[in-house]
Amino acid sequence: MKDYLKFYINGEWVDPVEPRTLEVENPATEENFARISLGSKADVDKAVAAAKEAFKTFSQTSVEYRADLLDKFVAAYQKRMGDVSEAITSEMGAPKWLADAAQATAPLAHFTTTAQVLREYKFEEQRGKTLIRKEPIGVCGFITPWNWPANQIACKIAPALAAGCTMVLKPSEIAPIDAMIIAEVMHEAGVPAGVFNLVNGDGPGVGQALSEHKDVDMMSFTGSTRAGVLVQQASAPTVKRVALELGGKSPNIVLEGADLTKAIGGGVMNMMMNTGQSCNAPSRMFIPKSVKGEAEQIAKATAESVKVGMDEKGAIGPISNGNQYQKVQDLIQKGIDEGATLLAGGLGRPEGFNKGYFTRPTVFSDVTNDMTIAREEIFGPVLVMIPYETEEEAIEMANDTEYGLAGYVQAATDEKAYEVGSKIRAGQILVNGSGPDFSAPFGGYKMSGIGREWGEYGFEEFLEIKGITGLKSA
Ligand code: NDP
Repeated sequence: MKDYLKFYINGEWVDPVEPRTLEVENPATEENFARISLGSKADVDKAVAAAKEAFKTFSQTSVEYRADLLDKFVAAYQKRMGDVSEAITSEMGAPKWLADAAQATAPLAHFTTTAQVLREYKFEEQRGKTLIRKEPIGVCGFITPWNWPANQIACKIAPALAAGCTMVLKPSEIAPIDAMIIAEVMHEAGVPAGVFNLVNGDGPGVGQALSEHKDVDMMSFTGSTRAGVLVQQASAPTVKRVALELGGKSPNIVLEGADLTKAIGGGVMNMMMNTGQSCNAPSRMFIPKSVKGEAEQIAKATAESVKVGMDEKGAIGPISNGNQYQKVQDLIQKGIDEGATLLAGGLGRPEGFNKGYFTRPTVFSDVTNDMTIAREEIFGPVLVMIPYETEEEAIEMANDTEYGLAGYVQAATDEKAYEVGSKIRAGQILVNGSGPDFSAPFGGYKMSGIGREWGEYGFEEFLEIKGITGLKSA
């Protein structure tokens, strides 16, 4: 058992005000491997005070200075990437290949993209008689989840640093170790004392205290819609800006004429990626009734080919925690009860597993858009296939959801993909198997959130806008 009992406040590792600890579990073994401290409002007060003081000077630093700081972070992070990858594997169960290739490398992409945005950004512009000036918003509070832990921290700290903001991070207590390493990297990179602070704790304790703090100017939260609403409510009395990156139930419309093997096989694999624990997962696949039989065969074969496990053959690891495992099991049961056809997978652990939150890659067909499994974010390796008659019907059902984070379109031509993609009410559309673009805006319509992350749009979330009118030179 390794102890990570201190918090990073004002450039130092300090003890919590009141000692209280929590053990961190490895979801693949169900064994606890580390201990962290759970903070309180008193720790949040200390961290926010440090961030408020540091803002006075950090907000005045030059673009060159901050861009260099981002570069220094990249250099220091590269040396610790192996440690971050290992931590992520232990705390949330990503197999080594995924932790190495995506989970631990994503921060590099966000920091390098943000450094480029910063170097090219126009902070001042003359509009008629008025000089428009963009300034850092102030002290930011960050609450991040366990599914892509390092990525989601980087999405917030890179643009905040670039803008000249100071910050307090509360990582998920389920996956907190990668965040401790990132704090060490911030220190190593020379981020000035007080600019970045980390306090571990639970949502209702530290998360709530941060959200309602009068000296926090902005909250940026990633997680469930349920907790996002609580953050927004706690933030309201102090009128702070709130950015929310929440859940999704993203449609994947396979159009007639699309290459079925690629569209269906790719859609299933994309759903299973990270054990289905991605807010933008293509979890509702719409298939033309005319090709239903063939589509089902491809989906079943693909799901059954997905290897589960932590060894080098494992494509997916366990669900990241016991609560989430139970939620996914309950929803699989719900799908069976509501009459969907179970094509692959199902209840219980895959064959050969008797511990760990391993889950069978599952595909349901004959799903209707009003079933619970088509409406609720399952956040596990469970795909639902919904047959449709006409393209209009597919678009109608795709938009019949409270969410709007992402949409996927598989089409024979770009023109068709664009036409249908334009009609999906979601913040990001990925067509014909495209992978992520770290400079593209990422964020949701409707109950999937408020604001955007990644690239220039993510950076601008951390800026205030000031108009100065009446200057003689204007
Ligand atoms: P939560 O949304 O509860 O957790 C995300 C973060 O929010 C954690 O840091 C959590 O803290 C914090 N939090 C929880 N309650 C509060 C609060 N009252 N005030 C401030 N912060 C709070 O996710 P769960 O673990 O409960 O997962 C439930 C569901 O959320 C999943 O099934 C999935 O559908 C969705 N989810 C979506 C994610 C996304 O990327 N959009 C990521 C993770 C989950 P702590 O856990 O430390 O108490």
